[in-house]
Parts: sequence; C-alpha cells; structure tokens
Amino acid sequence: MFNKLQQEQRDLDASYRQSLQNKKERETRDQDQASGDMGKGTIYCKAKKCNNHLYGWTSSLDARYCIDCLG
Ligand SMILES: [Zn+2]
Repeated sequence: MFNKLQQEQRDLDASYRQSLQNKKERETRDQDQASGDMGKGTIYCKAKKCNNHLYGWTSSLDARYCIDCLG
C-alpha cells in the first residue's frame, strides 16, 4: 500500500515536471517569435531588395518569392 502511494507520488511529480518543461518550451518559443524578425515561420520574399511578407502574397511560380517579384 505504501509503495503504491509512493509510486503515485512519483507519477505526479513526473507529470508536474513535464508540464513545467512544456511551459518553459512554449515561453522560449514565444520569445523567439517575438524577437526574431527573420525567424522560423516568418516568411518574407527572398529577393534582396524586397521585404514583402509572403502570407497571401506568394508567387505561383516560386513559393520563396512574392507576387511583386515573380508574378
Ligand atoms: Zn518580392
């Protein structure tokens, strides 16, 4: 009986640590997105003189460029 309680306590600890870990990873990811203007998931036109965001503006010829550059 006592061992079972200990086991449950360990399981609780493990899931608590896991949720803390998940929270930390989520916060780190949020900070990355907030600080990195060219970070992952943010897609801008690859043309050197072009800063167009590709969201809803992607060239049908090449997804790395915007419609302005490769329309
Ligand atoms: Zn462009």
